[in-house]
Amino acid sequence: MARYTGPVCRLCRREDMKLFLKGERCYKDKCSYERRAYAPGQHGQNRRRKASDYGEQLREKQKVKRIYGIAERQFRGYYYRAIRMRGVTGENLLMLLERRLDNIVYRLGFARDHAEARQLVRHGHIQVNGKRIDIPSYLVRVNDQIQVREKSRKIASIADGLEMVDRRGVPKWLELDKEAMRGRVTAMPAREDLTMPIREQLIVELYSK
Ligand code: SF4
Repeated sequence: MARYTGPVCRLCRREDMKLFLKGERCYKDKCSYERRAYAPGQHGQNRRRKASDYGEQLREKQKVKRIYGIAERQFRGYYYRAIRMRGVTGENLLMLLERRLDNIVYRLGFARDHAEARQLVRHGHIQVNGKRIDIPSYLVRVNDQIQVREKSRKIASIADGLEMVDRRGVPKWLELDKEAMRGRVTAMPAREDLTMPIREQLIVELYSK
């Protein structure tokens, strides 16, 4: 599946907000968005034109895809799944994304950013309910226990991630035991648990055209 492998700070500048894609650097003065809060490219410093309705919807979708590091086809798959669920489609979409195992690994602080979390899962460092799961899109359920595998506990980036999690905070639907490098899903995520400014309704409008 095609995945973006270019410089990630460009993405924040393109979306005109911090997407927190680069671990520790995102919280420091070195953050590219803090230093150059204009769009990337030759004409980036020109004043941003007011976007059309379509443009706004597209940007919102791109923003969410980039936050979670998901390719278009899979993202669209989440949308179709969200439609079939009860409730508000846009919220369902976000909650499905939140329940991905790689996202949980990031939220619990076992990784410094989403890309690193995805790699930890892929490389088999994470267990769910005692079983190794190497599928980043695995959807967690209430009471699932997520932990770093015994053999993998010395990985330096995990310790760094756990240091950063204090600053970021663990969402209230997750419980973290830092010492044991273990977390538990105590509830399903709710819309108000997401603090990033996301207008999910625009994504629904885009896909339902
Ligand atoms: Fe975005 Fe982080 Fe890069 Fe800043 S350092 S521009 S928040 S990825």
